[in-house]
Formats: sequence, C-alpha cells, structure tokens
Amino acid sequence: MSKKYNREEVIKALEGKGANLPCHRCGRESFTVIDGFSRYHLSDDLDANVLGGQGVPIVLIACSNCGAITPHAALALVKREQEINKEGGENGK
Ligand SMILES: [Zn+2]
Repeated sequence: MSKKYNREEVIKALEGKGANLPCHRCGRESFTVIDGFSRYHLSDDLDANVLGGQGVPIVLIACSNCGAITPHAALALVKREQEINKEGGENGK
C-alpha cells in the first residue's frame, strides 16, 4: 500500500520528536520543509548507477538562511497505513 506525503504529519512528527533545534551550520531558527519524499539509493557496488532498486525514503528540511539541507528517515516520521490500522485495532483509537 502506498503512503502519500503529508506536510502537516511531517511537521508534527519533527516537533514531537524535538527535531527543532537551530541550524547546525549557521545557527538560525527558520526552516523550510521540502515537500515530498526523497530517497537515498543503496548498492553494494561502489561504481553502480543506482536509479531505482533499494533505497531509504527521506524527508528533507532546509535552513531558510544558509540552505543547509538535513535529511530525516521518513519512516521515523510518518506511519504507513497498515501501521495506523494495526494501532487502531489494538488501542481502540
Ligand atoms: Zn543555516
């Protein structure tokens, strides 16, 4: 089952986990959420051209001042639909 990007869910998760400290490069406190999932591609071959295949879905947050981009593993921030259904069934939410 696919999981669509949800900006509000990402922001809420970042705040809930305390991932809201000032920029690690310039120290400013204004950030931009880059909408949409990106991906770090994985390969066991140093010279591989790795479009497609295995990857780690990520969410990118950019400093509004210096543009430093910080990646967060998407699965630490958003829940897949089956996880939501599972929680709902067990916890009665
Ligand atoms: Zn910065």
